[in-house]
Amino acid sequence: MDSTAPSPSVLVIGSGISGLACARALHDGGATVRVVDRGRVVGGRLATKRLDDRPVDIGARYFTVPEGAEFSDLVADWLDRGLVRPWTDTFESLTVGAPSERKSGPARYAAPKGLRSLATDLAESLRADGVPVEQNSEIEDVPGSGVVAGIRYDTIVLAMPDPQAARMLEPASPVAEELFGAEQWQPTLSVVLAWPERRWPADFHGAFVNGSLVVAFIADDGDRRGDGAPVLVVHTTAEFARAHLEHPETGIEAVIDEVNGLLGIRERPSSTYAHRWTFSNPAEQHSEPFLLRGHIAVCGDAWGAHSAVSTAWASGDALGRALTA
Ligand SMILES: Cc1cc2nc3c(=O)[nH]c(=O)nc-3n(C[C@H](O)[C@H](O)[C@H](O)COP(=O)(O)OP(=O)(O)OC[C@H]3O[C@@H](n4cnc5c(N)ncnc54)[C@H](O)[C@@H]3O)c2cc1C
Repeated sequence: MDSTAPSPSVLVIGSGISGLACARALHDGGATVRVVDRGRVVGGRLATKRLDDRPVDIGARYFTVPEGAEFSDLVADWLDRGLVRPWTDTFESLTVGAPSERKSGPARYAAPKGLRSLATDLAESLRADGVPVEQNSEIEDVPGSGVVAGIRYDTIVLAMPDPQAARMLEPASPVAEELFGAEQWQPTLSVVLAWPERRWPADFHGAFVNGSLVVAFIADDGDRRGDGAPVLVVHTTAEFARAHLEHPETGIEAVIDEVNGLLGIRERPSSTYAHRWTFSNPAEQHSEPFLLRGHIAVCGDAWGAHSAVSTAWASGDALGRALTA
């Protein structure tokens, strides 16, 4: 940034990984930054909930590191500090009524304390550098003038799914017109099923499920986070989630039946929990890495090649760098 120019002031709304990446790049580039989020905790869809006295990942299942991406430096630091662990590159491919197959792909990473701990780490390092990261702070209106709650900002960053960003904007604003609507985002239910003991093969990590109307993915949370707890987290299909969005707990029985059938488990789980994600992932992607129109910018996992933690980070980072360039 030109050292003679006044430092831009930026409000980042959203403390998911894209908002935190954006705030880091803004701060490092010399901007004055404030981060606010309506949630009680940071992380957004990097979501970890304490159930039966242990953390369970109920949002993102894992993350991958695209080759050559700058995200890899951050991940290397997390690995060094033990915040991240390599999970697996192999999942089952389960098709209803057909034998299971094993498929290898990219290395998947998880976090021993749950993926939210990574957002907490980013937020703590921002706070240590004097950047306010405020929770329980919902923003309702973002006018094109750049004035929010009586404070004028050079830029307001909306770091979140498009439909959540659109709610804050005037409907005819040029930014709102470029965002995907709610129908272009998919819902998911995350259903946690815990047994007293492991009821599935020792070498099971997780499974992509094909041909099921109910289940899309099964993750072994104990295997993922390294404590061996007999806990599965099941991600439903978008169609199933749509039918149970209002009362997610009404989907639990069908999920148990489907998972028990797929994995050959005979006992019912001893504890269950269901969480709804109305905007789990975009059904399509924007071709640009972020949107910047006047005083308003948007970043997040819809801005890049495919919806992922690494895409959300790269989108926020690229926006922060662009605003301080
Ligand atoms: C069930 C599920 C499974 C997934 N699996 C994977 C996976 O395996 N691998 C992978 O890479 N990715 C996965 N993802 C996607 C990944 O979680 C996201 O790409 C990433 O976390 C998005 O980060 P973000 O910062 O863009 O948005 P978010 O994490 O959604 O953050 C948005 C933030 O904005 C805040 N906010 C919204 N509106 C307001 C407002 N009006 N005022 C203040 N704050 C507001 C929210 O509280 C939230 O904290 C999964 C997601 C889900 C839900």
